[in-house]
Amino acid sequence: MKLRDVPGPKAKAIIERDKKVVSPSYPRSGPFVMDHGKGAEIWDVDGYRYIDFVAGIAVNSTGHSHPKVVEAIQKQAEKFLHISSDYYNPVWVELAEKLAEIAPFSEPAMSFLGNSGTEAVEAAIKLARSYTKRKFFIGFISAFHGRTLGSLAFTASKAVYRRDFFPWMPGVIHVPYPNPYRPVLLSKPGEDYGETVVRYIEEQIFNKVVPADEVAGILVEPIQGEGGYVVPPDGFFPALRKLCDKYGILLIDDEVQAGMGRTGKWWAIEHWGVEPDIVCAAKGIASGVPLGATIARKSIMEKWATGAHGNTYGGNPIAAVASIATIELIGEKYMKNAAEMGEYAMGKLKEMAERHPNLGDVRGKGLMIGLEFVKDKESREYFPEFRNKVENYAFRLGVLAMGCGKSSLRIAPPLVITKDLMDEGLAILEEAITLAEKDFS
Ligand SMILES: *Cc1c(COP(=O)(O)O)cnc(C)c1O
Repeated sequence: MKLRDVPGPKAKAIIERDKKVVSPSYPRSGPFVMDHGKGAEIWDVDGYRYIDFVAGIAVNSTGHSHPKVVEAIQKQAEKFLHISSDYYNPVWVELAEKLAEIAPFSEPAMSFLGNSGTEAVEAAIKLARSYTKRKFFIGFISAFHGRTLGSLAFTASKAVYRRDFFPWMPGVIHVPYPNPYRPVLLSKPGEDYGETVVRYIEEQIFNKVVPADEVAGILVEPIQGEGGYVVPPDGFFPALRKLCDKYGILLIDDEVQAGMGRTGKWWAIEHWGVEPDIVCAAKGIASGVPLGATIARKSIMEKWATGAHGNTYGGNPIAAVASIATIELIGEKYMKNAAEMGEYAMGKLKEMAERHPNLGDVRGKGLMIGLEFVKDKESREYFPEFRNKVENYAFRLGVLAMGCGKSSLRIAPPLVITKDLMDEGLAILEEAITLAEKDFS
């Protein structure tokens, strides 16, 4: 394997121009300058090829420019681009029907459509408040739910996201996410760590911080994304559902990163057999066209008063047709591929962890896999410098992978990835780890 001298000259030139005119607030992960992509492969402007383990942060679910998605967009573009949510359009209805079919409720569903993950979360917050007539929410440390002032009130994965922005929406109380690799609460004997966190909410928060009957909702990622690809213990969601039922609190499931078939099921929460009340979807929902959806039990969303919430672009026809094609493709074959390729990669990565002392934890479901790097497996001390080296060597060897959490790397390729590309990508990743080991030895 050869370490390439990337970024090349064309990429460098574009990065220079970008620096002059694009907001520096964007956190960039690496000097990759996209030219084009196909399936799970991407090429930069200098012609260098990469295996895509990022998928635009779990967005390009059907791979880059899937012909069926492109065709749907082209056909729609010739008919009309926009009509506004003040009127009706057939593809909007078709999309909402499709979302109702795949919604994780054993009752009918309704959807509110927007343009991004954060808008899906904002709509969920407003729906929960107006439905319950309650004010408070529970959120989780290390969560990411977006950057507008409602969703930012929950986002707690990096303090820099919040610096200078208070007051965001008041009323959110943060509790630890059940991270089994790094527990911060004491479990009782025989108690699952997920159950411990739920007990903490009931015993500590509801008794001492805010009464349960003033809590509108609990907003939670089924698997933490930005926070480090953290999978909660199996007891967590069943216990959380029980807690919500006991106190009439809405369980709001942020599936923006984990949903849309990525984990091998439509919604990651289905891995634990739990039905939420509201689901937020975006990222993988339309293969790269901006779209967000707040999907709720019909019994909840039908109570929303006309005018209570709205937008200009809701159900935008270009996004809707891209999403319809995406949902069909995922349902036909790619969700199955995500489950199979995910299991395959997980097996290989767990073997890899045995060979590499700094690869402390491998976790995930389907094609949402996190690798956590540590100083050593005993202490589990964070090792972000090591992670950064791995990310950079992988980039130079031809794999685009992105960090998450303090010391982790995410593997989130398009759901279309083949076994050959997965093998090639994992071999490159192992070489990158080996090179990083040499640097720190
Ligand atoms: C990315 C993300 C969001 C925000 O989505 P945007 O489209 O960037 O606003 C919300 N929740 C989760 C879980 C995410 O990963």
